[in-house]
Amino acid sequence: MKNYLFGIMLAASLPAWAAAPTDADLKGGAKTPGEIATYGMGYDLQRHSPLKQVNKANVKRLVPVWNLSLSNNYPQETQPLVIDGVMYATTTDATVAVDAVSGRQLWRTPVTLPQDVHAVTCCGSHNRGVAAYDGKLFRGTLDAFVVALDMKTGKELWRQQAADYKDGYSITGAPLVADGVLITGISGGEFGTRGFLDGWDPATGKHLWHRFTTAGPDEPGGDTWVGDNYLRGGGPTWLTGSYDPDLDLVYWGVGNGGPWNPALRNAGDKPHDDLYICSALAIKPKTGEIVWHYQFSPNDPYDYDGTNELILADLQVGGAPHKVIIQANRNGFFYVLDRATGALLAANPFVDKITWAKGIDLKSGRPIDSDITTQVRNTPEMDKPVEIWPSALGGKNWSPMSYDPHSHLAFANTLNFGYPYRTEKQEHVRGQWFLAMDLNGWTWPEDGKRGYLRAIDPLTGKSKWKVGFDVPNFGGVLSTDGGLVFTGALTGEFMAFDAANGKKLWQFQTGSGIVGIPITWERNGRQYITIASGIGGVYALFGGDERLKNVPPGGSLWTFALYDAK
Ligand code: CA
Repeated sequence: MKNYLFGIMLAASLPAWAAAPTDADLKGGAKTPGEIATYGMGYDLQRHSPLKQVNKANVKRLVPVWNLSLSNNYPQETQPLVIDGVMYATTTDATVAVDAVSGRQLWRTPVTLPQDVHAVTCCGSHNRGVAAYDGKLFRGTLDAFVVALDMKTGKELWRQQAADYKDGYSITGAPLVADGVLITGISGGEFGTRGFLDGWDPATGKHLWHRFTTAGPDEPGGDTWVGDNYLRGGGPTWLTGSYDPDLDLVYWGVGNGGPWNPALRNAGDKPHDDLYICSALAIKPKTGEIVWHYQFSPNDPYDYDGTNELILADLQVGGAPHKVIIQANRNGFFYVLDRATGALLAANPFVDKITWAKGIDLKSGRPIDSDITTQVRNTPEMDKPVEIWPSALGGKNWSPMSYDPHSHLAFANTLNFGYPYRTEKQEHVRGQWFLAMDLNGWTWPEDGKRGYLRAIDPLTGKSKWKVGFDVPNFGGVLSTDGGLVFTGALTGEFMAFDAANGKKLWQFQTGSGIVGIPITWERNGRQYITIASGIGGVYALFGGDERLKNVPPGGSLWTFALYDAK
């Protein structure tokens, strides 16, 4: 009897059992630099670390401490997590757990994919990472499943189908856990699909909510579509959102309209906005309810997905502190939005050449079309191409930038080329590309620099410094309190730059091209930096760049540290 009573008392006094990472761990972000518990190195997606053991003065002594094969030739776009000394990374065909300090693989769980799935992705077969919560890992698959694995063993715990890959749907982005809900996006904007977000119960996989990202006729925004175009209207959600726990809002970017040719989505000469293509959505994680939206590129003709990372920052705007979202949009403008209301605070070019718009009107929040864009919106079948800058790959592609909360600078790999653009007619066929335009090469810049790494002031869009690259970079960016900016090249070099002036301080050849996302973390007093290597992605596939023909494929993880740190 005594023992029985003691048991009840003990049970009542213990908190609900929860395994790492907990909600508090996910909120830790830069305050817990030993744990990289989320995609983005924090809910704010800032990708800036307070670690400074590796700094400007000693980065020359940075050496590899281990390298691990990922056993395939797919593009490695993953951002690893590091939780309690174990690293978790994804590739298209597997999830792996690695002892973070020694580099020894602890388990590898394969993803079994149907043979024909690789034909129904737009831009290569890749995966950008896992979410972790309560002892479980969550990832998407190329055939549009959401899978939960046991963090200790890699054993599959549940799987749910988000969509049918035969329609052109896939999942490539890392999931997000916010307020105890697992949120996943979807790819497939080039296939005439209808985009959405899903909410799942992380414990069981139970489907909690489904939020389409093109508005139906009975919903707010439904009148921005002609007829039933919204059913094939795009609006994919292929990159991971950010989360503000205080406002309890998740911010998620929405991609291009389907088809790209906007005249086929319009009626007569009247452009339709086609909500919520190319927008930022603020949603409640528990329900998927849309609290506000801001549309970057209404009626977008150019594949200017609004999916790029929506970074949370605190900025002085007009002399007052503001909680904002910043985004370097594919359309070439750098946006600052109030994150409570979605109000536009600033929108300025961050690239040197934009031909599609003359600017963004701050009052209405809408772009001011150039004459070329007015013509494009009204011409379902164009005789001759027009020259559009930035190209369909954008002024910045998906690879995430970092943001330093002390200097208030964003560090981004930006692109510097245009493309010839000509609309044509096309009928939608299930599971096939649906652009309704002639994609025919690129317009290269006169200076030969197809990409620039830039340090950008969010409020003006101006670059404090920029470094040009003949072959543009498609790797993610990491910055640190050591005054360093890390990123990778498609030709394989992992590089460190001085955050104050862009001077290159260090590089290491990783053996294949880099399209992955760097992280830094610490363990037992030593700072480590990790990057996945393995060429692929949209520019390697479609850029036609001869300089990449001798860059071999082959995925691996590299981890670096100062050779003389303890
Ligand atoms: Ca797209």
